[in-house]
Amino acid sequence: MILLGVQFLMNFMSLLVWKNDEEEDISYTEEKKLGGSLSKDEIYRLRKKHVANACILFYDPNPLQIVRAKGQYMYDEEDNEYLDCINNVCHVGHCHPEVVTAACKQMGILNTNSRYLSHLNSTYSQQLTSLFPAPLDTVFFVNSGSEATELSLELCRVWNDATDFICVDSGYHGHTRSAITISNYKFGHPRGIGQPDFVQMMDLPDTYRGQHRDVHTAGEKYGAQAELLVQNINNRGAKVAGFIGESAISCGGQIMLPPNYLKTVYKAVHKAGGLCIADEVQVGFGRCGTGMWVFEKQGVVPDIVTIGKPMGNGHPIAGVVTTREIAERYRQNRPEYFNTYGGNPVSMAVGLAVLDVIKKEGLVKHAKVTGDLFLLELERLKERHSCIGDVRGIGLFLGIEFVKCRESREPDENTAVFVKKEMYRNRIIVSTEGRHNNIVKIKPPMSFDQNNVAHFINHFDRAISQVKVQ
Ligand code: PMP
Repeated sequence: MILLGVQFLMNFMSLLVWKNDEEEDISYTEEKKLGGSLSKDEIYRLRKKHVANACILFYDPNPLQIVRAKGQYMYDEEDNEYLDCINNVCHVGHCHPEVVTAACKQMGILNTNSRYLSHLNSTYSQQLTSLFPAPLDTVFFVNSGSEATELSLELCRVWNDATDFICVDSGYHGHTRSAITISNYKFGHPRGIGQPDFVQMMDLPDTYRGQHRDVHTAGEKYGAQAELLVQNINNRGAKVAGFIGESAISCGGQIMLPPNYLKTVYKAVHKAGGLCIADEVQVGFGRCGTGMWVFEKQGVVPDIVTIGKPMGNGHPIAGVVTTREIAERYRQNRPEYFNTYGGNPVSMAVGLAVLDVIKKEGLVKHAKVTGDLFLLELERLKERHSCIGDVRGIGLFLGIEFVKCRESREPDENTAVFVKKEMYRNRIIVSTEGRHNNIVKIKPPMSFDQNNVAHFINHFDRAISQVKVQ
């Protein structure tokens, strides 16, 4: 009886194994196309059914299925080519072979947490921090920009045993709770949590649409508000923990900080005992073509710099770069900082490969040369199309602001969205941004070249001309 039972169990088990084998066989043989075995309709249906619908799709209800990418190009399931003008994460180009090889190779050697010595971790920490001005010589590795923001805020709180922060209108620093509290783009949304009482907000230092429009004096004028906000914090019986601001403002509408802005703000915050965080998650690693970091253009040295997106060319790696003294204050007043994936050998190998490619391919200079040409061509388009109110940016970080009338500067969302859709019809990917959603933003992989500029301008010109004949 017992034997019969065991035999039955073994037969049943082999049936299970056989079934699994068969299932694997089916998925392998049918997955011939890069798009997998599912039809696009089925992929869409499953996505809508199982993925939280707070996670949105581009171009819904006609979303794009991307199955592969290379350099600045992406390909759909029918192998149509799209020019990618917005992916600042795949910084040195989608699937750059050196980065892919570094990741694959290290994945087959070792991947573990950072509590062991690793030549990759030590070498990357050294190479990365060497790109920052003194005294920024210390790094924490994390996995996303949001995590970097979280930790940077905590470093400020610990530094001065303080609670309050100063942030900038329309800023975005991440999706976690603390990050949201200092991200007006999120807390100020109609469904957002609202501005917390421990947060003060600076006006957007926008020299096109804001209160101060003379670029030569706007930096000091916008920056002067920091003193008042420090006062507000003191008046409520609190202390300033820190200021956080993007070194060039992205979600707020591709806004370049006017000269002396950060100098003025940092001075007020430091005087009050707080620390200053530069968020370089979007614009760091040479995108703007002026050097590796955009804060340098403002002549300041932040206390903390958050970095992410381009750092791993699509691999999830981010970091918080700070001074030894600030990191030490944290160590003395908080438990060990442990991050399961932060600083793992695969991420470190990827980070090293990205730095190597930026250097070898001269991408910072390339961003400057290509960006200068791009801006010039956009200026020329502005001369011919009155719906373009402003073009701005540096390097491969540009914005085009659409208006109904140049004098009133009334924002024109419809035209911006129409142009975005027309560009998509011509397989060029751009996005719209800003409080009025009237700004087309450009931040392509850094391999974007002069031919791409010409192609973009040609179609952008045609798209805008179409607006007129509508
Ligand atoms: N800071 C800035 C300026 C960002 O643009 C973002 C993401 N868009 C973040 C922080 C958050 O990064 P992540 O999405 O990697 O968490």
